[in-house]
Amino acid sequence: MKTIIEPFRIKMVEPINLTTREQREQLIEAARYNPFLLRAEDVIIDLLTDSGTSAMSAEAWAAMMRGDESYAGARSWYRFRDTVKEIFGFEQVIPTHQGRAAEHILFGVMVQAGSVIPNNTHFDTTRANIEFFGGKAVDLPCIEADDLDSDYPFKGNMNIGALKKLIATEGPARIPLIMITVTNNSGGGQPVSMENIREISRIAKDAGIPFYMDACRFAENAHFIKRREAGFENTPTIDIAKEMFSHADGCTMSAKKDAFANIGGFLCTNDAELAHRERNALILSEGFPTYGGLAGRDLEAVAVGLREVLDEDYLDYRLLSTRYVVQHLRDMAIPVVAPAGGHAVYLDARRFLPHIPPLQYPGQALAVELFIEAGIRGVEIGTVMFGSDPHTGEEHPARLDLLRLAIPRRVYTQSHMDYVLEAIQQVWQRRDDIRGMRIVEAPKFLRHFTASFDWV
Ligand SMILES: *Cc1c(COP(=O)(O)O)cnc(C)c1O
Repeated sequence: MKTIIEPFRIKMVEPINLTTREQREQLIEAARYNPFLLRAEDVIIDLLTDSGTSAMSAEAWAAMMRGDESYAGARSWYRFRDTVKEIFGFEQVIPTHQGRAAEHILFGVMVQAGSVIPNNTHFDTTRANIEFFGGKAVDLPCIEADDLDSDYPFKGNMNIGALKKLIATEGPARIPLIMITVTNNSGGGQPVSMENIREISRIAKDAGIPFYMDACRFAENAHFIKRREAGFENTPTIDIAKEMFSHADGCTMSAKKDAFANIGGFLCTNDAELAHRERNALILSEGFPTYGGLAGRDLEAVAVGLREVLDEDYLDYRLLSTRYVVQHLRDMAIPVVAPAGGHAVYLDARRFLPHIPPLQYPGQALAVELFIEAGIRGVEIGTVMFGSDPHTGEEHPARLDLLRLAIPRRVYTQSHMDYVLEAIQQVWQRRDDIRGMRIVEAPKFLRHFTASFDWV
């Protein structure tokens, strides 16, 4: 069969509240032109994030009923720990309530003022946590990522030459760890090749620097390797995932992504002494080391989700459904990051709205217009998110201005995506009339979550 179907049936539904254009104009104004400040029930198709928004399976719900809510040493903890150890392969597992809590604990023990931490591209919470502890977060995306139109298969790769240069100029002592984000969220949801992972691992070992993976979308990355990298065509995706982790010394993970969970995360390492210090920090902020800010039922849901997400029929459907949207946009000549990433579609707002300069936030303007047009909520990944120095408050254009439409796992069908495509096309047809935006008020850290805007 050529038709790709959603490999699941729906047995529980949630109604969508359909609004009019006039209502949406009022709603987004009341939200001070920040889609984060809208009420979710006022959104028709919510593509704000794929984080914590997945549809859980009947199996995961059933497992939640088995949750052991004992304070210490619960059965659910051992199920969670053993599943993580089996797939990820690290010796020490530290549960946290979500990914950024794992980052906060990791950087709290490893980063000092003046530390430098390279990554292919730091996710916003990763960067903010490093900067919070006085470190410098350095992005080293591969050169191929600059060409948004090319179909280079592994645009999430790190620039190996730039990494070597950074180690040579800073010296290994200033670099407490090297990170790689799989897939590369901020850089376009693009995968990292096994070749790149192996090379970074070698460089890190030679320099005596620990190598960590930001593993949020490890299953999508592993499946891209299977479908795009020579030599992995016949390797089960789970084995590819295991090899990815075998090259690293630890990882941070948000179970809200590739574990289908609504909440959860963890931190892994092979260093027992480091884990000891991390557990002390965990007890202070998250909870006892056998639950780390999670209920027993959450630990159960994550344990089931980590296995389900490696189902290859699911992963084929997942990657193809994102590609479906990207291909149709390209057919309409609408500027979009190519090739399709795993979890999201990224409109290139700078080329979509070339008359709006970066410091008037074309990604934000596009997000607002798409909501007004059809009630679709996306998120700006650009100058609002990355264009301000938290220490000086100075503004500069981000490397890219994108509008991310993240696709929740197993939530929307193809007809929902056809609706999204039609809405984007309608905004595209009236793009010349769209104005830029200005910030009315914003905090210093992670300003995109709560900033308020107005039209220029
Ligand atoms: C979501 C995400 C995080 C943070 O995880 P939370 O669960 O949202 O705290 C870190 N890195 C990447 C790449 C992510 O996508």
